[in-house]
Amino acid sequence: MAEGLLVVVSGPSGCGKGTICRKFLQRNEDMNISISATTRSPRRGEKDGVNYFFLTEDVFKKMVSKNEFLEYANVHGNFYGTPKKYVLDKIKKGENIFLEIDIQGALQIKKIYPNGVFVFILPPSMEELKNRIIRRGTESKSDIDRRYKNAFKEIEYINEYDYAIVNDKVEKAVKKLESIVTAEKSKVDRQ
Ligand code: 5GP
Repeated sequence: MAEGLLVVVSGPSGCGKGTICRKFLQRNEDMNISISATTRSPRRGEKDGVNYFFLTEDVFKKMVSKNEFLEYANVHGNFYGTPKKYVLDKIKKGENIFLEIDIQGALQIKKIYPNGVFVFILPPSMEELKNRIIRRGTESKSDIDRRYKNAFKEIEYINEYDYAIVNDKVEKAVKKLESIVTAEKSKVDRQ
């Protein structure tokens, strides 16, 4: 049996990847989202086990020492990690997995699973990126500055990815992601 497809989407904070991924997942029910663990505090409206598994740093570190993450990274000052068992079980069963993770995590996954499909979401401009982080209104001033500064470093890694999508219009970006995934599923060596 062919293994499931592993799709990894990254992009700087504020590029709109959250909205694109949500819409994509609503319309593509065969893609299983992996819920990450994080040590960051929940934002208003976020639920444990839905948006993330919200963990203390102690619990997170115990999971690291037990090798329970496929990848993990410190992103903007908090830890984030992809639970290993869920992802590997699904892929082995031929089911597809969708990960929305940062660049450091994507690079770790690429090393252990080069068959994955790696997609980078870009903002239309860096100015628009900053405006989007500010408009979102969920981060403090220092967090906004940190995320914006990190964005420049993150974009330098774009060549590690298979595809880039500029998010100037959400619907257009979702359609591009759908086209990429459809094409990847149709590859001869996947049949
Ligand atoms: P946020 O705090 O805005 O939800 O996410 C911050 C960053 O962490 C985003 O770039 C998001 O893609 C990334 N992220 C979320 N889950 C994971 C994960 O499991 N692993 C890694 N490496 N990054 C993650």
